[in-house]
Amino acid sequence: MNCIFCKIIAGELPCYKIYEDENVIAFLDIGPVSEGHTLIVPKKHAENLDTGSREDAARCMETIYEIAPKILSAIGATGYNLGMNHGAIAGQDVMHTHFHLMPRKEGDERTFVKTNPSKDALASVAEKIREAL
Ligand code: 5GP
Ligand code: ZN
Repeated sequence: MNCIFCKIIAGELPCYKIYEDENVIAFLDIGPVSEGHTLIVPKKHAENLDTGSREDAARCMETIYEIAPKILSAIGATGYNLGMNHGAIAGQDVMHTHFHLMPRKEGDERTFVKTNPSKDALASVAEKIREAL
């Protein structure tokens, strides 16, 4: 299947991994709107939340519950935006269900503008977060 997130899940493409279990993976967004912008993704392919299983929807939320406080403390954020673009009409570009967790720090302008950090910068954010998990 020509799905970029399935390829990441299969290990055919690299990612800055934050967390993984049997059913869910979380990795940094390569175009983060804030430091630590993380995508939470069910491993089983479904185009969106509606067409996936209820179990996978719940597992994603359980993962967010577990990892969000640790991501925040790792990077010194005190809150986060949680989002999902459900369907092309809503701006979904990657047609494999995913939630966006976007940490927010004091002084953050709270924009949703994508940035283009270096590989080194992403790798060091991912490492910082992994150490806190
Ligand atoms: P959507 O618009 O579908 O909700 O968001 C897709 C997100 O996936 C975007 O924020 C984009 O930066 C991110 N993205 C696209 N391709 C890749 C990739 O190959 N690796 C990672 N880590 N993120 C990606
Ligand atoms: Zn997929």
